[in-house]
Order: sequence, then C-alpha cells, then structure tokens
Amino acid sequence: MWPSLKDLAKDLRNGQVKSVDLVNKTFQLIEDNKEYKTIISVQKDSALKKAQAIDEALKSGHKLGRLAGIPFIAKDNFLTIEGYTTAASNVLKNFRAPYQATAINLLEEEGAICVAKSNMDAFAHGSSTENSDFFTTSNPFDQERVPGGSSGGSSASVALNIAPFSIGTDTGGSIRQPASFCGIVGYKPTYGLVSRSGVIAMASSTDTIGSLTKSVSDGILIMDIISGQDKLDSTTLDSQYKVDSKRITKVKKARIGIIKEYLDYGLDDSVRKGLDLTIQKLKDQGFLLEPVSISSLPLALAVYYVLCPAEVSSNLSRYDGLRYGYSDDQSKDLEDSYFKNRTNGFGKEAKRRIMIGTYVLSSGYYEAYYKKAQLVRTKIINDFKEVFSKYDFLIGPTVPTVAFKKNSKNSPLEMYLNDIMTVAANLAGLPAISLPVLMNDNLPVGIQLIANQKKDNELLSLALEVEEILKS
Ligand code: GLN
Repeated sequence: MWPSLKDLAKDLRNGQVKSVDLVNKTFQLIEDNKEYKTIISVQKDSALKKAQAIDEALKSGHKLGRLAGIPFIAKDNFLTIEGYTTAASNVLKNFRAPYQATAINLLEEEGAICVAKSNMDAFAHGSSTENSDFFTTSNPFDQERVPGGSSGGSSASVALNIAPFSIGTDTGGSIRQPASFCGIVGYKPTYGLVSRSGVIAMASSTDTIGSLTKSVSDGILIMDIISGQDKLDSTTLDSQYKVDSKRITKVKKARIGIIKEYLDYGLDDSVRKGLDLTIQKLKDQGFLLEPVSISSLPLALAVYYVLCPAEVSSNLSRYDGLRYGYSDDQSKDLEDSYFKNRTNGFGKEAKRRIMIGTYVLSSGYYEAYYKKAQLVRTKIINDFKEVFSKYDFLIGPTVPTVAFKKNSKNSPLEMYLNDIMTVAANLAGLPAISLPVLMNDNLPVGIQLIANQKKDNELLSLALEVEEILKS
C-alpha cells in the first residue's frame, strides 16, 4: 500500500524515504505483478536518473514541487520523450515521440517521475483492453476477468499498488469504467479542462484527460496539477475553471438527481445494491436525492457510436504508413516493417471504426447518420442543461455490471453496450467521477457522480464528502 500522495511527498521532503528507493520499488512491483500484464514498456534508466537528481536536490535543501520524487504510470497514448509511445497499436510499435504531452510536462515540473507506460485498448477503442494489439490485462481481483478499458493497464496498476497514481484518457468512459472494475477512483474532467496536447487523439470532440487514484484527495492533487489553459491546445478552458485544491470545500447541502434512465438497463444486483446504499447514506446525511428523468439519455450510446467512429476515421488517417511508427532504431523498424502499413498495422476494432466513420461521413449517408447524431447530441446537451437548473449533481451507476470475463463479449455491439452509462457525460462535456462503493463476491462496484460543465471543483468537493460518508 502506498501512503497518500501528500504523505508520500512529505516523507520524501523529510528524507524519510528516497525517491530512488520508491522508483526501484515500483520496478520490482511491475516485475512481481507481471502476470497481470498491466505494462507495455518501462523507462528504467531515465526514471532512476531523475530520482537520483531529486534525492540530491532534496538533500541540499532545495524547494521542489508537490510530487517531488513520486513515481507514476502513464497510459501509453501520452507522448513521452523517454521510451516508447505505442497506444497499444502495432502501427506505432517502437514509436518514439519527438515531443511530450503537456500533462506529463506538468507532472514532471512538480517532480513526479514517469516510470512506465500502461496497456490499453489500441488507440483507446474498447472497454476491456482486449483490443490491445499486444496483450490483455487481467483484473486485479480475478485474473479471468478484464480490468475494463480502455485505461485498463493504468487502473489495474493502481489497484495492484504498483504505482501511487496513474493518468489516463476518457473519450466515452475509459477512465471511469476501468476505475469501477478495479475498485479505484477515476476522474474525467470537463471537456477542455486539461490540455490534450501530446495525447494521441481518439475522438477530438470528447477526448479528456484525467486521473486514476486510490482516493479522491489524491485525484484532486493530480487534477490541480494537470488542469489549466495551454497555448498548445486551443480548446482548453480559461484557467479560472481549473481544479484548485483551495477551492475544494465541504458540501453540506446539495440537490442530487438520481438518473432514472440508468436504472432500466438490467443492472447487476450488486450494482443496484451499491447505488441504493450510496443514496441511502447520502439521504441520512441530509442531502436531497430524488429520481430525475433525462428523456434523451437512451439515445446517447447510438449517438456516440456514430460520432466517435467519424472522428476516429479522421484522426487515424494520419497513420498512412509513412509518417508515423518509425523509431530511431532502424533494426527495429526493419523488424516491424510488416506493421508499417494500414492493412497489417491496424487491428480489427480500429478498422471497424474507420469503416463505420467513413460510412457515416460519406455523401448520401452524412445527413442520415452524422448530422442526425449531431442534432441529438445537441438535444442531450440541452436536456442536461435543464436538469442542472434544478439539481447540483447527478448520481447513477458507472457501469451496469461488475468486471466481466475475458472473451465473454460475443459481438462489438455487446462490448459497446458496456459504455451505456458513461458516454453521455462525454457527449455533453460534463465532469464525472467513478467512486468505489463496495465489494461483492470479491469484485468491486462503482458509482458515478456527474456535474454541470466547469463545476469540477464542486464535483470533487462532493466526491470527497461521499467517499467519507461511504467509509462510515
Ligand atoms: N469504451 C469506449 C469506446 O470504445 C470509450 C473509449 C474511451 O473512452 N477511450 O469507444
């Protein structure tokens, strides 16, 4: 078990622990937990060098950042200068990025050390890591089950205590769903709150970057560090909206709507139990909770699976077999030359999305699919706006089920259905968080809290409170 990030940072500052030891410990844990297959590549030499430099600076009394000497793991779709960035796709096997993601830069400026890149569904298409071109990650609680996806390697690594925290991306649920399956806290911010610069694009109108942590307060610290306006991403919001630890307050009263539509989707008994328990405990604390209907919500999944492939087909067009996928190591390039074209390089799911996306954007079908989906998206956005004029927050399950068995989804559609409760927040750009509620038959159950756009500080304040209440 790792201490909280604040305690860990304090121990490092006081010289009670050495960063080099923490980094070595992480590598040892990666080795010890190899069977779970959470990691694609490690950055051993650079991480140890950075740790040594931080230990020396701390010893000489330098004032360093808030995460000085703390190791972390990044999903493999964050560009890092050190090591490889593959997005778990053969197309990018052995790819070395020429620049680094803003989120990684911001964490490094605070002294955090990236030690490894974690497994994911290739290009973040999926909900189980089974779409990784390399291997499937196992769920920390049951190796026959998936950890969720697409940030499955990140979530499982944190749940297995390999590293104190991880960062991931959420385009349709990829932080919240694996967080729920692995029993950790997953935060997806308001669209535009965290810079997407240097993060491999999936669906640009819903891509967001967030944290995977053991506690809400760790998540707040990470989000405080990585959120804010960035001149390298023109879609980032003004920094006045950023997560700010100082703006996290105690929430005593709030009106919380229980999303009615999410109760109809054949919830697992354990998920219903987790939700009911949370609702009851919140009511006992004096929060106002009542069912609320958002009539367009049942359309969100269909809308997402039209718009997302459309954007994917456009974003993946840059992998033309010429410009990306080559490393500075020519022998490796030669070795992997088979994968350096679209036919051999893209896996089944990427190809499926390219075809669907191209289809819905093509002349003759554009009006019937893409345009219609955009119209319904606007309706969903407006319905949320109306609901948030009456309620401060919404509550519901994160996923209808607990972690499912590997190879148990018989069709892509069955897999897509797992995202039914997460995609709406992405379509409307809303902040949302998954919190672990209970264990059922040794499998974690999560619940989801959602707030209006730019209410990240309020949502995290509530989440902190809910986490506390659930402990009692
Ligand atoms: N599971 C969803 C999908 O496959 C979400 C992916 C994500 O958020 N990156 O599209």
